[in-house]
Amino acid sequence: MADSYDVIVIGGGPGGYVAAIRAAQLGKKTAVVERDKPGGRCLNYACIPAKTILHSAEVYDHAANGAGLGVVANDVKVDWKALGERRADVSSALSSGVKMLWDKNKVTTIEGEGSLTETGDVAVGDATYEAGTVVLATGSIALAIPGVEFSDRVVDTWGAWSLPEQPKRLAVVGAGASGAEIASAYARFGTEVTLIEMLDQILPAEDKDMARVVERTFKKQGITISTGTPVELVSAGKSSVKVKYGDTETEVDYLCIAGGRAPDTDPLNLETAGVATSDRGKVEINEYQQTSNPKVYAIGDLVGRKALAHKASEEGVVAVEHAAGVETHPVDENLVAGATFCEPQVASVGITEAQAKEAGHDVKIGRQKLGGEGAAAVYDDRDGLVKLVVDSEFGEILGAHVVGNRACDMIPELVNTMALEGGYQELARIVHPHPTMSEAILDAARAVDGWAIHA
Ligand SMILES: Cc1cc2nc3c(=O)[nH]c(=O)nc-3n(C[C@H](O)[C@H](O)[C@H](O)COP(=O)(O)OP(=O)(O)OC[C@H]3O[C@@H](n4cnc5c(N)ncnc54)[C@H](O)[C@@H]3O)c2cc1C
Repeated sequence: MADSYDVIVIGGGPGGYVAAIRAAQLGKKTAVVERDKPGGRCLNYACIPAKTILHSAEVYDHAANGAGLGVVANDVKVDWKALGERRADVSSALSSGVKMLWDKNKVTTIEGEGSLTETGDVAVGDATYEAGTVVLATGSIALAIPGVEFSDRVVDTWGAWSLPEQPKRLAVVGAGASGAEIASAYARFGTEVTLIEMLDQILPAEDKDMARVVERTFKKQGITISTGTPVELVSAGKSSVKVKYGDTETEVDYLCIAGGRAPDTDPLNLETAGVATSDRGKVEINEYQQTSNPKVYAIGDLVGRKALAHKASEEGVVAVEHAAGVETHPVDENLVAGATFCEPQVASVGITEAQAKEAGHDVKIGRQKLGGEGAAAVYDDRDGLVKLVVDSEFGEILGAHVVGNRACDMIPELVNTMALEGGYQELARIVHPHPTMSEAILDAARAVDGWAIHA
């Protein structure tokens, strides 16, 4: 045995790096095994690069279209090289920050690919490390669509966020959160974007009303949207890709497949260590993230449920707290908010109106358009909606949905209200600061009983 640890975490993404720090805080001798960079895919190839480029798209859009606000900028251009450098710098700074936190908390970093041994210890190269507890946090990998392979021209989401040039024409397959973000950024940079979704609405996980607002705005931004149309044929050439979907055939510079992801478990030796998986390959866990081998926990994209960084982090906290025998709180997935950073942003928590009705709730709805609030005029930010889905019996908030440019910063208030078991009636009496977009939440709560002030 090379060394022994109370806790060994395999994978240093948002799940793994947080789990390791929390374990160290609890006094456990902790190591993280990472074969690539601290911070995982989230910081280096997914969430952070995506949001960095989306921010540049927003700045470009404001600069190019600010004349109505009295700010005239001539000759506004995208500097693709500088944009890529900033994206890399932001990821690199945050990744170094994670390493610094590990060092500060005396977490040992073991570089290399980790796998489980028969005894549930951890092998990295020729070394085997004894572990009291192992936390698997190896995340997920992009899947292409059947019959299509990734290449220079057919890229996954990381490929789309790191293209060597700004494409003139881009098609995105899959209009979930990632696909919508890619379409939204490139369209604002001036690329001709086609967004193709096989289901009958974009952002299929979101409430229909919210998806409709985004679809309308995307179309205004010049994005061509096709729903209910699976891609039938992809033919990649040297400098372009032909795509057939429904009755349409188009040719683009790049095709991005922003579809499904699969758990990254191949090197882990799960079976040997007695760790059970579902038929879709996800690691099976109990409410404390513990697998069928009680010494081994699993968190993040590896396990079922939503694939979100903040969910992964909280699962990491729960796993190591449970392993350490301290009081903890299982993650309530219903209260894990989704956040999509396209323009306009979409954020939601709980269930949609359709899901609430399907579950048999007698539902009441509160809706408030952002455009009704003073802040919308001040910040020139009129497209958007807050929608509350409540149970009519006691006023429990079953779902809260926000679309608008600050939606992802507005949703935590609604998560908190639901987590603290407040009803819409309490929300309707909480004084909100003026002028802020959050006033639309107050009006949406009042709208449930028909007394929104700015409707
Ligand atoms: C384009 C894109 C944008 C996204 N944007 C957001 C967003 O804005 N907000 C959000 O909440 N979520 C977002 N997500 C989802 C988010 O990235 C994931 O949910 C999150 O990264 C999962 O974290 P994780 O810790 O499970 O794994 P990951 O971040 O995937 O990290 C896993 C780490 O494990 C390492 N690893 C894997 N196998 C081994 C091994 N055997 N040995 C050693 N190391 C190993 C990998 O190198 C990697 O560093 C986005 C996803 C994509 C694709």
